[in-house]
Amino acid sequence: MGQFIFDLMAEGDYENIVFCQEKTLGLKAIIAIHDTTLGPAAGGIRMWPYASEEDAIKDAVRLARAMTYKNAAAGLDYGGGKIVIIGDPKRDKHEGMLRALARFIHRLGGLYLAGEDVGTTLEDMVVMRQETPYIVTVPESMGGPGDTGFATAFGVFQGIRACLNEVYGSPLPQGRSVAVQGIGSVGKALVKLLVEAGADVTIADIDAERAHALAADYHVIVASPAEIHALAVDVYSPCALGAILNDQTIPELRCKIVCGSANNQLAEGRHGEMLVESGILYAPDYIVNAGGVISGVDSLHPGGFNRQRALDKVAYIYRTMGVVAASAKTQSISTARAAAILAEQRITMIRQVKMI
Ligand code: NAD
Repeated sequence: MGQFIFDLMAEGDYENIVFCQEKTLGLKAIIAIHDTTLGPAAGGIRMWPYASEEDAIKDAVRLARAMTYKNAAAGLDYGGGKIVIIGDPKRDKHEGMLRALARFIHRLGGLYLAGEDVGTTLEDMVVMRQETPYIVTVPESMGGPGDTGFATAFGVFQGIRACLNEVYGSPLPQGRSVAVQGIGSVGKALVKLLVEAGADVTIADIDAERAHALAADYHVIVASPAEIHALAVDVYSPCALGAILNDQTIPELRCKIVCGSANNQLAEGRHGEMLVESGILYAPDYIVNAGGVISGVDSLHPGGFNRQRALDKVAYIYRTMGVVAASAKTQSISTARAAAILAEQRITMIRQVKMI
């Protein structure tokens, strides 16, 4: 790989990349720590059957950097990091592998605080917690936040309200049309919040059974997963996949606002500008989907997790999204760029504070 790793670290200002291997247990994992200016790195553990080690390293560093921005913009005193495990979660995951990784995390002495992500579950976190207290996303019965889907959905809901206020002059979802793509843990909770607030909601999920089950409980319309992004609605809310805002989908959008939970929605940075040119207000994903990490780290308070305190902090996303939209407008830049500036300025400010 030549200079690949150190060049990659220099390019994105990474602090550490830790490689963890336990041959007998089949564990191969990478702990990427991007920036700990604000505090210990807080991020999830992703398990994915990466095609190559290079793909896994690149994904780990990209996701770690995004966590730095997410935590900084959310006003949290935590830095950014991500762990990736190379393997198929359905086939390769087992107790020994998870506990071995937990012991590697423990060796970092609290520099990395972990939670679940794609390919890992709350149950996996319970297994890992046996080896280290530095696993923070555990059930409420163990002092953790439990499933973070609702907190994330509540944050996205606040983001939608802020965007509605920006575009229509009122934050009220009542009578507004919203298309929710993906009704898993986050999407389903978001649909409930929107319906209760009087919005007209259309949903789509590749799991048709799941979509129809939700439609039986709530007054929502079910659309095809291939078309959900192209509906003529006020808000399109991607709550499934990343890279959903790309050269193919952006020209097909007929919404005024994009605001959803999916991570890394812009396929490339330039797609943020493309949305501006299309007259669409984009809510940067890491601004509005911070509810999960906010509630995850709440459990680190000396008194343990407090749901109300966590949700009060998540509700602040309304204000943060308003600030991002306003600063994008006054500086004539994309909201994606305005969000990055907000996060970078906070890190620079706290670095200065810590010099005293
Ligand atoms: P989930 O796995 O519970 O749900 C995802 C849903 O999307 C599933 O129902 C799946 O069938 C559906 N889906 C997948 N591909 C689709 C497609 N092409 N079209 C329509 N539906 C599709 O995941 P989740 O926890 O609800 O998270 C949703 C997104 O939000 C993910 O991108 C995740 O990374 C992000 N996110 C989640 C949290 C959290 O707290 N859970 C926090 C931050 C970000």
